[in-house]
Amino acid sequence: MSFDSFNLHPCVLNNIHALGYITPTPIQNQSIPPILSGKDVMGLAQTGTGKTAAFALPVVNRLLTGPRSCIRALVVAPTRELAQQINDAFVELCQGTGLRILTLYGGVNIKSQIKALENGVEIIVACPGRLLDHVQQKTINLSRVEMLVLDEADQMLDMGFLPSIRRILNHLPKSRQTLLFSATMAYNIDELAYEVLHNPVRVKIGNITPASSVRQALFPVASHLKSKLLIEILRKTDIESVLVFTRTKHGAKKVAKKLEEAGFRATSLQGNLSQNNRQRAMDGFRDGTIQILVATDIASRGIDVSKISHVINYDMPNTVEAYIHRIGRTGRADKTGEAYTLVTHEDDNEVRNIERVLGNRLEQCNLRDFDYSHA
Ligand code: AMP
Repeated sequence: MSFDSFNLHPCVLNNIHALGYITPTPIQNQSIPPILSGKDVMGLAQTGTGKTAAFALPVVNRLLTGPRSCIRALVVAPTRELAQQINDAFVELCQGTGLRILTLYGGVNIKSQIKALENGVEIIVACPGRLLDHVQQKTINLSRVEMLVLDEADQMLDMGFLPSIRRILNHLPKSRQTLLFSATMAYNIDELAYEVLHNPVRVKIGNITPASSVRQALFPVASHLKSKLLIEILRKTDIESVLVFTRTKHGAKKVAKKLEEAGFRATSLQGNLSQNNRQRAMDGFRDGTIQILVATDIASRGIDVSKISHVINYDMPNTVEAYIHRIGRTGRADKTGEAYTLVTHEDDNEVRNIERVLGNRLEQCNLRDFDYSHA
């Protein structure tokens, strides 16, 4: 299959080629045709599968014809980082089309957003909270939305956004095309799908298994030696960019500080940062000035940096889904990656759960010359 077979507008095809995409990914192959034909789609796909372009391409293609200066496509995403990333993908795909994209999330001045809305846009990428602020202040008109995309819907439900989503839906035309993407089949996704989708085409990429391009390993360690072991692993491994996960915001800050003290170009990405500092951390990580980013699950949502060579779970994630989601940050778009997890005895149950879902035992590693008996 090639992108040519989708009958996309030449302008869209040009932009795809400019991005260097040669062949569509499986989620793109399965979802682009039904979306182009106007059907609702429920897509179950992990991160790194190319799902952003799977919905963004048909959106841009459709918006090329028809009215301008009114909001015709609305994408709702759980976090600012993900919203920003979706925005960036749209910007690339809209080159030369004259279509305007606006991203709406909190933590930034609402006035400039209102001004941009007044100037007229066709595509909105938004986080639920700020979008509702605009709805309440009547600074946004959603009555002409033709396409609604709910991205990372499982995460939105986890974050308690269901009531907000329902309120947003009340302001959208009943007759519209809706696309819902989720990385996992969380128990309440079906309920949301039933509410928002009409006769959807269901597209599922893989089971909940990580990409085969990710090598996984466990590093058993006593909890008080975790940061020492992390530093030694980083010293002894050929790393490019590393994403380290902690359970808490405080943990992210603490670990990043220790890594900096050990001489690494590291910083943390967590919810306590101002929007400017978050953006600076993301930009630094993307351009390589920051080599190691220490993040919590929520802050990391949507990080799309293609050259992440290693994901290291400093703390064990709470669920198997979160584990798979985290390690999906490496090994993206056909690159290989490594995912290490530091495990203490308390994590035994979680390890068993992960191994059961994956259907195989994970390799256990000991770092040579590391003093595991250190008090
Ligand atoms: P996503 O799952 O949307 O976060 O995409 C993961 C990465 O794959 C992003 O860096 C995209 O730019 C890239 N990507 C998406 N579609 C393709 C494609 N057809 N060929 C190559 N890379 C792609």
